[in-house]
Amino acid sequence: MKYNHRDHLDKDGVIQYYVATQRDVTEQKEVDQMKTDFVSLVSHQLRTPLSSMRWNLEMLLAGDIGKLSAKQKAVIKSTEEANARMIKLISTLLNISRIESRKLIVEPEEIDLVAYFEDLARQCQSNVKGQKLLLTMPKGPYKVVVDPMLLRQITNNFLNNASKYSPEDKPIEISVVDQGGKYKISVTDHGIGIPQSEQRKIFGKFFRASNVSKHATDGTGMGLYIGSMLVKLLGGTIGFESQEDKGSTFWVELPRSGVSARAGEVKLV
Ligand code: ADP
Repeated sequence: MKYNHRDHLDKDGVIQYYVATQRDVTEQKEVDQMKTDFVSLVSHQLRTPLSSMRWNLEMLLAGDIGKLSAKQKAVIKSTEEANARMIKLISTLLNISRIESRKLIVEPEEIDLVAYFEDLARQCQSNVKGQKLLLTMPKGPYKVVVDPMLLRQITNNFLNNASKYSPEDKPIEISVVDQGGKYKISVTDHGIGIPQSEQRKIFGKFFRASNVSKHATDGTGMGLYIGSMLVKLLGGTIGFESQEDKGSTFWVELPRSGVSARAGEVKLV
């Protein structure tokens, strides 16, 4: 059941009457669950043949089945890239259905944020388009209790976006600030920014701002939606500041003490 209650006040703020409504949402919940199960099933079914295609393409590229001409190699390479994009897209859909099913396992552990970001920056430097990654954080350790897999999903998305939506010659800054009981982690770029009028929709599922099409970048509008769901599981908050054509800062605030572990049934893929 879903309850709604609204007081109607007179001009002095005294309650005159109230309206209470009660709605049976069982059916709605069942439909949502069916949708989640359906996406999960389809995603599994699609991933298996796509993965075997990938093995075959890798075998062809490695020359295991015979020597390829440069032209043949180029065709197979682009097929392999398309295949990788599809696998990634399906994994994202699968992750959404896993998160929405509320069965995600949460395994918090104590990590040092300074070491975590030094490591991440090293790994990501080769993935970003060419931007310099600048880390601003005092000398560690900055200990926090968090599920590192889930945090990685959020911060990788911030970094990938910062790279996708900003020019190569502008740096990307990562900072961690101690705010007492919590840490604020921010990723700042100097890129295309987000138009003011669209900012309220940014964490919505499948949302992409109108200015991304001008820059011909690929994307699905699912990364920030996933991030906003995961941050709740980590007991934190997510947000951003952005100005069109100037740049954006995306941030998460995480409680230092973290959240309790959750048994759940599934992990992210
Ligand atoms: P995707 O990047 O795959 O489209 P996301 O959910 O990660 O999906 O982001 C949703 C949208 O938010 C993007 O399509 C883009 O319009 C906007 N956005 C996110 N990060 C940035 C950024 N750093 N700079 C400009 N726009 C951004």
